[in-house]
Amino acid sequence: MVVTCPHIPRPGETVIGGDLAMVAGGKGANQAVAAARLGASVTFVACLGHDPFGDAAEDAFRKESIDTRYLVRDGSAPSGVALICVEESGENAIAVAPGANSHLVPQHVLRARAAFEQADLVLLQLEISLETVAATVELASETGTQVILNPAPARALPAELLSSVGLITPNRTEVATLCGLPAEKEMSPSRLSEGLQSLGCTRAVVTLGAQGCLIVDKQTLLEIPAFRVDPVDTTAAGDAFNGALAVAIAEGQSLETAAVFASAAAAISVTRLGAQPSMPARAQVEELLSTAGFS
Ligand code: ADP
Repeated sequence: MVVTCPHIPRPGETVIGGDLAMVAGGKGANQAVAAARLGASVTFVACLGHDPFGDAAEDAFRKESIDTRYLVRDGSAPSGVALICVEESGENAIAVAPGANSHLVPQHVLRARAAFEQADLVLLQLEISLETVAATVELASETGTQVILNPAPARALPAELLSSVGLITPNRTEVATLCGLPAEKEMSPSRLSEGLQSLGCTRAVVTLGAQGCLIVDKQTLLEIPAFRVDPVDTTAAGDAFNGALAVAIAEGQSLETAAVFASAAAAISVTRLGAQPSMPARAQVEELLSTAGFS
């Protein structure tokens, strides 16, 4: 729920803003939509409330041909919502009400075992409880399904979890948080790589905003530049990137090719307003890749 205001209200202050905009979002939902638009067959395991927001979200997933059979509708919690106040300068203040997102428990994920058995890949992030994240990673290991963990929003994670995930995709701030360092500290590529390896991460793609991304594994430290575009709204660039990366890896592409594909999808998303509405279709990503000389 987004309101543009002349300035972000101070404590106790009421500010008159513009019209309310209701925009579909949430990291898991954005990533599911990104992957579906790029042609993947997506099953989304998530929890929504029994309220109009939940109804709208479920309808939207169906329209994107996302399999909603494992969506949980929980009558005891409202759907997750973020209240966002945006200043004309672009500065924002956000209050998140996780609601039903925190009601997605390991049992809900275990019910989706058949989907895990069929899937090439599981993509997950941290807008659900850590217990549920850990249960998901464990189930994927039992079913032999590869995992990408997008460790966002930033939080510290247990070493066992990090070492049991095949690929993580933090941004710079999230690497700092994982390493227990202040987020403002600018880390060089080699420092980012050392930090991730000291945490036991086997492979990572670190996203660096307009600077592109960095592939880190034991043998490689490879910088991939971003596609040059005129940014309009960088909201959900990371979600576009993760959805696309998951699609390309599930299709069997190398990590480098997948990261270029993901960079193209994310670059298109930053030229458009909003989260889910900004996710590109496959043909648009392929067109950007071929214009830029990737066939
Ligand atoms: P997050 O939104 O999770 O913080 P980033 O800001 O690192 O993620 O962006 C994710 C990816 O989106 C980057 O690695 C890059 O490929 C792409 N991207 C982000 N901002 C831009 C930009 N201004 N121009 C082109 N690509 C961008």
